[in-house]
Amino acid sequence: MESTVASKLEALLKLQTIDSQLDEIKRVRGDLPEEVQDLEDEIEGYEVRVRKFDDEVANLNESIVQRKQGIKDSEGLIRKYEEQQENVRNNREYDAITKEVELQKLEIQINEKKIREAIYQIEQKNTEIEGTKHRLEERRKDLDNKKKELNQIVGESEEEETQLEQERNKAAENIEVRLLSAYTRIRGNVRNGLAVVTVKRDACGGCFNTVPPQRQADIAAQKKVIVCEHCGRILAGVEQRVF
Ligand SMILES: [Zn+2]
Repeated sequence: MESTVASKLEALLKLQTIDSQLDEIKRVRGDLPEEVQDLEDEIEGYEVRVRKFDDEVANLNESIVQRKQGIKDSEGLIRKYEEQQENVRNNREYDAITKEVELQKLEIQINEKKIREAIYQIEQKNTEIEGTKHRLEERRKDLDNKKKELNQIVGESEEEETQLEQERNKAAENIEVRLLSAYTRIRGNVRNGLAVVTVKRDACGGCFNTVPPQRQADIAAQKKVIVCEHCGRILAGVEQRVF
């Protein structure tokens, strides 16, 4: 059986009442959920940066170890060459070994220079990491506080919210899809979340523009779903004027 316009409007009004209560719960939470999300994103960014720094420092330390080993190897070769030099048969052999020794000494100088550069880079990076770690610590404290605040607010309204969500689902079931999507669309378009209003003191309860007497009579008759010509909200009824 097709439901009457009156019952459709009643169902819409009921849904609106529940949604307005849910809106109020969310309003009390304010920007907190978003602020928590922003902080979590910022912290993640810092953590990625710190991990990257740590990797770079580890690579530099590894390169220092390798360069130090290179120096030891060169020193070993030099000792070996110098022993060989004591047993050379001619000047040509002596000169050839001298060249090898010089090459290894050059190699040692290069490695020492690279080690100094790596140490300098590590110092620079450590300064950078320190700043980031400091900010990270501060943001973590902020996040802790915001989360506590949010959890408290959510905790206070959690039960009510769950119950309202259940009521909302039940109320929405009774409304035909086409009407429900119109309701959702209007709610999305208006600032106060009111898609269904009544006429109060000859005016639309949503935008407060005057509703002419004939239109009020049509609304009161509840023969069809009528929307406000100014704001598009559904006008579910006319509240009786008290003279
Ligand atoms: Zn209006």
